[in-house]
Amino acid sequence: MIHWDAHACLPQHPLADFAPVRRLHAAGVNYVSLNVGADMNPLSQVMSVIAGYRATIAADPARYALVSSVDDIIQAAADGRMAIGFDLEGALPLLEQPDMVALYAQLGVRQIHFAYNRNNSVADGCHDTPRGLTPLGVRMVEAVNEHGILMDCSHTGRRCSLEIMHVASQPVIFSHANPDTLAPHGRNVTDEQIRACAATGGVVCVSGLSFFLGSARPDAADVARHVAYIADLVGVQHVGIGLDICFQQPGLDDTPPGGFDPAYWWPAHAGYRADAPPTFTPPEVWRELPAALRRAGMRESEAELVLGRNMMRVAQQVWGAPAAAALARAA
Ligand SMILES: [Zn+2]
Repeated sequence: MIHWDAHACLPQHPLADFAPVRRLHAAGVNYVSLNVGADMNPLSQVMSVIAGYRATIAADPARYALVSSVDDIIQAAADGRMAIGFDLEGALPLLEQPDMVALYAQLGVRQIHFAYNRNNSVADGCHDTPRGLTPLGVRMVEAVNEHGILMDCSHTGRRCSLEIMHVASQPVIFSHANPDTLAPHGRNVTDEQIRACAATGGVVCVSGLSFFLGSARPDAADVARHVAYIADLVGVQHVGIGLDICFQQPGLDDTPPGGFDPAYWWPAHAGYRADAPPTFTPPEVWRELPAALRRAGMRESEAELVLGRNMMRVAQQVWGAPAAAALARAA
């Protein structure tokens, strides 16, 4: 049984300590998607972080595996190693160049969404003025599908996310977003978005962040409540977990260089306050999730879908798409 955490953040610094990754592994997680950059991070920082994380992973092959397939994840789990993939939060690191998608795939990026809360030339952010997916954005979706990367719509504007899901030729996920009906927030997703995601064959992964769960001290029961809502709405085969834990490390400053303005990326009009940061579930909540899902009314086989099997299904299809296309061309 593979447990899949669809999104976590270490400091955006090449020397970030991987102790939190080991905590997730010890709590039963077999695969984690680590963020390597967002729209507020300049390309120099994104590249430095990717190089640093790759070096940390390569330096301890007994513990970590940078994976490119579901088979790699299954093998890593059998070997007792933590499987890791990278994700990008925003399209600015793509430099308006669809060819960059293939390059990031080579570097280990397995999942991407196109806008971090704010609009850019590719897509809309969820806390900005709705415009819709741009013509460049359509080409970017095609590149993401072609190169076998998971198309994510977290942090994306509602209308724009619906357009991405309409254009996509592969299942689309929300790697860390929760039902707006249970916790109204611009970062959460409406029933319409959840239904559209399920219609692509995709998965909505529930975040463990306080604001998005509507709980000041989020726990396994909160996560299970949001999981159950999505399962009731569109079926248990369309729910996963992306706890969205942001691990800060004292002494490691990862502030983006240049004119970084937190109030732009996390605007007051969307409810963010500098003096009231979010709280996160601890990684160890993973140990409690199986029982919490059972208490929420799920059978063991259904809980296994939520904890990993659904994302394995989608990743198998999406990450395997380039090889499948090459086979079809050769046939
Ligand atoms: Zn995020």
